[in-house]
Amino acid sequence: MKLTIEKVSYPVADLLGVNLYMARVDKIHPLASGNKYYKLKANFEYAKEQGITHLISFGGAFSNHIHALALYAHQQGFETLGIIRGESEYSNNPTLLDAQRAGMVLKFVNRKEYKRRHDKSYLAQLQESYPNSLIIPEGGSSQLAVSSCSQLMHEINKTEEFDYIVAACGTGATFAGLACGLKPNQIGIAYSALLDDSLNERIRTFISNEGKSNINYRIESAGFKGFAKLNKEVLDFVVDWLDKTNILLDPIYTSKMTFKLMQQIKTGEFTEGSSICIVHSGGLQGWRGMKRQVIKLGGNKTWAIINSSLN
Ligand SMILES: *Cc1c(COP(=O)(O)O)cnc(C)c1O
Repeated sequence: MKLTIEKVSYPVADLLGVNLYMARVDKIHPLASGNKYYKLKANFEYAKEQGITHLISFGGAFSNHIHALALYAHQQGFETLGIIRGESEYSNNPTLLDAQRAGMVLKFVNRKEYKRRHDKSYLAQLQESYPNSLIIPEGGSSQLAVSSCSQLMHEINKTEEFDYIVAACGTGATFAGLACGLKPNQIGIAYSALLDDSLNERIRTFISNEGKSNINYRIESAGFKGFAKLNKEVLDFVVDWLDKTNILLDPIYTSKMTFKLMQQIKTGEFTEGSSICIVHSGGLQGWRGMKRQVIKLGGNKTWAIINSSLN
């Protein structure tokens, strides 16, 4: 599908004359949500060139990446193995049920083993056990994925020129790619969904591996304690944003980013007349694992509102 950019109207931004747009990457592909489409596409192309038919990757039990990988890879004729952090009791959750229906084989590992997912020796062993497979890093975040996301930035820039591009980060690969595609007068802002100090370094490495430097970007923390936990303020914001813009944000990444961005607009961090393109990186499937949390924080009515916007 073709990428669309929507002008969005939200009171605090309208009041202060800041022009908001949303790149609807969440709508880009029916099976692979948002940025995961761009990241996986590049990995799949590489696998096909190498004649590899089996893909292996890592994720949590509600991972958007695992979900997108399973469904999109299945459509493309690959077989998949998902190495999942946690216990097999998660295998009945909506994310992993979809994955299994798409033929993904799941292997549950404890936290200690999952922590080794970047270790050279662990990966070598895994490769030996599955010799004709491509091991894709967690989040799909290979260097190939970074290049693919810089393509996304070029697509965004074809539509209109924005002063700021903002995107939510987990591994940082998506943002690094977008940053590599920025024009010299554009500023990228990364919103970290996790409270971790290594994001800066990861983004820098991804960018320098693309052969780029002197990019104008900064990193903001949009995380709070508990990556997969919602808080009431953010949940209320999601409902308000949906009401005013008709766009549903995801519970982990774009919600926290957009919430933080609106606070920053309110405190005057963006000058009147500036334009900001928010990348909606998808992830809506993640809501299905949050029903109980949503009801606990916002009641049944809030869940009904969110649920009715999920397709
Ligand atoms: C995976 C994901 C991200 C993070 O992407 P990275 O490339 O790992 O930084 C952001 N938003 C959504 C909705 C995601 O699913």
